[in-house]
Amino acid sequence: MPCLDQQFINNQWVNSQGQRRLAVTDPFRESVIAEVTAGDPADVDVAVAAARLALPAWRRLSGTRRADYLDGFANGLTKRREALIRLSSTNNGKAIAEAAIDLDDAIACFRYYAGQARALDARQGESITLEMKGVVARCYHDPVGVVGLITPWNFPLVTSAWKLAPALAAGCTVILKPSEVTPLPEQVLADIALDIGLPAGVLNLLHGDGQGIGAPISRHPGIDKVSFTGSNRVGEAVMRAASDTTKGISLELGGKSPILVMEDADPQQAADWVMAGIYFNSGQICSATSRLIVHETIADALYAALAERIDAIRLGDPLSPTTDMGPLTSAHQRDGVQRYLDIAAAEQLAAVRDARHRELPKQGYFLAPTLYRDVPVTSRLWREEIFGPVLCGRSVASEEEAIELANDSDFGLVATVISGDSERAQRIGREMQAGSIWFNSEQLVLSETGWGGFKRSGIGRELGPWGLAAYLEVKHIIGPAT
Ligand code: NAD
Repeated sequence: MPCLDQQFINNQWVNSQGQRRLAVTDPFRESVIAEVTAGDPADVDVAVAAARLALPAWRRLSGTRRADYLDGFANGLTKRREALIRLSSTNNGKAIAEAAIDLDDAIACFRYYAGQARALDARQGESITLEMKGVVARCYHDPVGVVGLITPWNFPLVTSAWKLAPALAAGCTVILKPSEVTPLPEQVLADIALDIGLPAGVLNLLHGDGQGIGAPISRHPGIDKVSFTGSNRVGEAVMRAASDTTKGISLELGGKSPILVMEDADPQQAADWVMAGIYFNSGQICSATSRLIVHETIADALYAALAERIDAIRLGDPLSPTTDMGPLTSAHQRDGVQRYLDIAAAEQLAAVRDARHRELPKQGYFLAPTLYRDVPVTSRLWREEIFGPVLCGRSVASEEEAIELANDSDFGLVATVISGDSERAQRIGREMQAGSIWFNSEQLVLSETGWGGFKRSGIGRELGPWGLAAYLEVKHIIGPAT
């Protein structure tokens, strides 16, 4: 059984100074498949020293040269694609077809930021048009410095690529901490760094939990910025810790996103999109469209179409190509979602589909895909992120009511609008308070478009040029024209 008790620092695997170890599980077989160190603040100290030492030379390389390394990561992932898909599926529990989508997303992200790194060279020293005569000003984009990147377990290799690729493109050096729940896939990034000859100290990979590595990164005075993806509870702790040294932060946090189905939509087509928005990855998606807001005139038809589709979902071994939905990623996560289902039972919510409608596989941390209708807006199921295969619906009588209900949330990560009139769907999209709005589609996540939330869903944007800007400082050099 692999024991991940070493940290990747300065291009070497060195023993963690932490003594605690954590079990890494296969959530389908309910077995321990590896052990990982919980890490230690002293590991962070050593990694920060390496990253600081590597920074001057790395930042001075041209964007074009750094782009070659980013292409190297894309090539390295491509070469190991099949093995990584299986590993990610085994460690996370996601259906293998979904793990393949993840891997291709990560590869595309490295390629995209290779392009952005090349383009950065041309942007350096752009002259600024000034009102004042006799003065020149040029604009430069410097890397933020040493950055700490902290990621969750729901999209191994994806959430890390979204941070690592732009950080390296910008010229930052990195301390990357993957989730202790799914540490296995991210190991490959260190292997690739060695393969492609990435300069020592540019990428440091530290395993561990919040106490051992995450919190020490957030408060470390030698780290200039922290980019965090995960829960609101932890993101807010990161923000507090970062404030002591006025560290920059980017936060990608939770969601409770709406999907609006208007009266002019085709219920069958709409049902396909509703399904894709919630049961993918067993509902463990920050951008799950977990609040269904449907016009009352088509509600019954839509619920009937959804019930049929939910019954057709095949639960099982994530490695089997015939499986649609795997288990939840951990027993802890399964138990957390179950507590919401208990609340639903206590509140006597109207279940279109719940555990009574389905027999679960004999092994694995499974929960039945569940759909409730006419959920009161005061219910915790309507308001809180559940992070599991639980969809809550409500009917509305008008477009205005739909928009108001959609925006009545603490979160604002994404929203979806389904309408027979695509102009109308886009117009309604303009009213949504969220970072990405999909119309007549679902979960279209693209390297070129920004990712991030309004309100409590986070601070800043990943992906697109905005994802690069998150790792750059803007600098102007100003003086007399000669
Ligand atoms: P989590 O907050 O429990 O953990 C995230 C990471 O933070 C892990 O690596 C963990 O070890 C680390 N951590 C724990 N305590 C810490 C501390 N005190 N200081 C610093 N780091 C600490 O989240 P999770 O359960 O892994 O992931 C699920 C959450 O992530 C959901 O809320 C989901 O919405 C969110 N998420 C958001 C996005 C997005 O793009 N907005 C994407 C994926 C997941």
